[in-house]
Amino acid sequence: MEKGKKSYSAHVLAIPYPSQGHINPLLQLCKRLVSKGLKATFAITIFISNSIHHHHHHPPQSNSSLQFDTISDGCDQAGFPQAGSVQDYLARLEAAGSQTLAELIRKYGSSDNPIDCIIYDAYLPWALDVAKQFGLAGATFFTQPCAVDYIYYYVHHGLLKLPVESSPVSIPGLPLLELKDMPSFIYVHGSYPAYFELVLNQFSNVDKADYVLVNTFYQLEAQVVDSMSKLVSPLMTIGPTIPSSYLDNQLENDNDYGFDLYHLDPSACTNWLSTKPKGSVVYVSFGSMADLGEEQMEELAWGLLESNFYFLWVVRDSEKEKLPTKFKQETLGKGLLVGWCSQLEVLSSESMGCFFSHCGWNSTVEALSLGVPMVAIPQWTDQLTNAKFVQDVWKVGVRVKVDEKGIVRREEVEACIREVMEGEKGKEVKENAVKWRDAAKQAVTKGGTSNRNIDEFVSKLTSSLC
Ligand code: UDP
Repeated sequence: MEKGKKSYSAHVLAIPYPSQGHINPLLQLCKRLVSKGLKATFAITIFISNSIHHHHHHPPQSNSSLQFDTISDGCDQAGFPQAGSVQDYLARLEAAGSQTLAELIRKYGSSDNPIDCIIYDAYLPWALDVAKQFGLAGATFFTQPCAVDYIYYYVHHGLLKLPVESSPVSIPGLPLLELKDMPSFIYVHGSYPAYFELVLNQFSNVDKADYVLVNTFYQLEAQVVDSMSKLVSPLMTIGPTIPSSYLDNQLENDNDYGFDLYHLDPSACTNWLSTKPKGSVVYVSFGSMADLGEEQMEELAWGLLESNFYFLWVVRDSEKEKLPTKFKQETLGKGLLVGWCSQLEVLSSESMGCFFSHCGWNSTVEALSLGVPMVAIPQWTDQLTNAKFVQDVWKVGVRVKVDEKGIVRREEVEACIREVMEGEKGKEVKENAVKWRDAAKQAVTKGGTSNRNIDEFVSKLTSSLC
């Protein structure tokens, strides 16, 4: 096949880990690569593909440069719940994923658009083995911040011994970390062993990857990016991976991720927000997976109400029954509860005051990129470390304190919201948030660090094919 005849310079096949927080950033990276002249095929699982076509109003549309295809996670009928355990799910994903990925590569291999490179979520190192069987280039994509990846690197290589015996922990390139600032699998040693193995395995074959892409931007984590680049290379920061219209506006019609796994009623939030004064609303969301206890939900509910600010709270359908019974009526006038929203639209609303967030990495980057201060209520995995950076490194928010039972009490909820919404502290975090917003925009704009790294990735990949 002669490359010169094609309308694109290389064809990449992207394999996300099948969850909302992993799909969004990889899909955005693909859109950027397409804007730089590549063709991208984004392969979701058969289960996700079927469910968005059943429940979604506007399933993402393929065009000639960005198209969708499927692989199997071995759970085609019901997705994750079909597996017996996390371990079972991950085993099925690897077995069925490897096989169907190979089939996909063969299918395109006998078409006019053979695959040149696999970009795979770092949670799926087996995708690199498949790529290499076919002699293709492989780019691993770390969806989490460099600081967290670097901690896992340390653990994977035995540079940090577990359980951690004394704190604070000192790792070059990172601030001193207390145990509660470590990823949850380290903080609570032995918790979620299958997921812990998954995050450590991100480094199992990283030395064989041709490119290492990290979903962050240089300024945000300069020291740790410098430290980790000496150990893992070529390491390229390519974020923030949020739709272009919220950042640099270079990509046409890139206004949303376009891939909601939950039912969305976009007008409900925007209409409500548009009636609220500037900077007056607390937006509360814990992402696509968090599953808070009933007692915690109750404390949050009353804390929000007692703070007396307007609030918009995303409570997914599976969480609704945990709300206190009287709460719904009492919120009238002050609060809006929705099952899912367009988070970017909400965060960029004039009325946005602060983001009460679980500090999932996408949510954190979205808040930083849109200049919204945060109250951090981390739950598990990387969120604890993200919250540390939010409070002490980027200084764009405060982290809640938990009591001896691990619960954040209503008084604490209220106090943290007040701290970020009012007074001196409020002013300071708001100013810092605006500073990070500008840095985020700069990173993806022409001449910015991430923009240059993406260009370099494209040009290296393209020239390696000639
Ligand atoms: N999100 C959304 N609507 C909601 C809640 C979340 O669109 O009501 C999006 C959010 O913008 C982010 C993603 O879902 O891009 C959640 O990813 P994150 O890493 O923050 O958390 P996770 O869901 O992985 O815990």
